[in-house]
Amino acid sequence: MIETAKQNAGQQKEPIVETNTKKYTDTIINEDVDNKDKVITITELFETLKKEITDLNESDLLGGVISNINALDTALSFNLMDAKRNIRITDPRIDKIIEIDEQAQNLRERIYELNNMSKKQKENKSKKYESSNLNLQNEYQIKLNIPIKIATYIPTEIAERYLKEFEKLSSVFNISQYPLKEIKIEEIADGAFGRIATSLQKKESTLIIDERVYNRSASVVADQKSRCDRNNLQISSLYHEFAHLIFRDIRESRVATEDDINNFNDFVNNLGDGKFLDKLDDVYDRYKKELLDFADNQKRMDKIYLGWQSVYKGINEFFADAFMEGMLFTNEKYRSPYADEVVDLTKEYFSKNTILKSIFNKLINKLINYG
Ligand SMILES: [Zn+2]
Repeated sequence: MIETAKQNAGQQKEPIVETNTKKYTDTIINEDVDNKDKVITITELFETLKKEITDLNESDLLGGVISNINALDTALSFNLMDAKRNIRITDPRIDKIIEIDEQAQNLRERIYELNNMSKKQKENKSKKYESSNLNLQNEYQIKLNIPIKIATYIPTEIAERYLKEFEKLSSVFNISQYPLKEIKIEEIADGAFGRIATSLQKKESTLIIDERVYNRSASVVADQKSRCDRNNLQISSLYHEFAHLIFRDIRESRVATEDDINNFNDFVNNLGDGKFLDKLDDVYDRYKKELLDFADNQKRMDKIYLGWQSVYKGINEFFADAFMEGMLFTNEKYRSPYADEVVDLTKEYFSKNTILKSIFNKLINKLINYG
């Protein structure tokens, strides 16, 4: 059973902001000094980053290690940014922040170098799917009953994590709109981190997912994409893409024919009470309106904002980014209420047992009507 971030919030918090006044120079102090959450100090984050880079050897460059380092670097950058914003220039803690920032700059150059090296190594390997991942592929192919392809350069532990998460998600949510034909774990040529390739004609989808981590902050402030816990960064794109598998509004699609739109309307009208799309439209409208209304209230904006794509790329990206944040960001204090609304709505209409219940109810009604 999958637990949402909302349910998890009690046990598993990982906010980035340090509020322990005793660790004075190590910390970012936020307004809420009474926050007792488990926290990571900037120094801790910085030391981890330094260690990861120092311990690295050539053979690691192809692996998820590079992804982890990039995720750490992003988290550090955003925390330093938040820290500077929250600490007054006369506060002595600002010196510590600036000192770490300068040291981090040097590490960043090394990260850039490592990234280039790992890119070259990847280019030298062909995009073959036979590899030590073969057993994993076979195992999950049987479990999920979907053909799976994993490129040779994808680290087995990352492929396994994806497939496990996929298995969890698909045991809870239905992806009946466009059945999944294939899962591919490989680098995507145009640089995207994940993609659902849907053929409206064939009424089927392919999930393609990369092992690289989106350069999203694990911070409390959303950027291009919505937020998640730092330890969920690696699976965040998978959750985003999975949301597209659950539901995709094709009213925005330029290639959709009249038939496609009719099929889509049938699909939507057959969900539960048939009101899913109305409710989702309503959440999205309120979200956009509130962003405009609170444009000059930074704190409220940070709280509700689900990233740039959720505003400018339409309802599908809003749905996917909100779903990801609702599932993978356990920090209740900062999580967008719209993320929770979308997860609740998804559960109401796309949970496997909800759908069974609705089929059962329809059947009963039919029996009563004909009986
Ligand atoms: Zn998307």
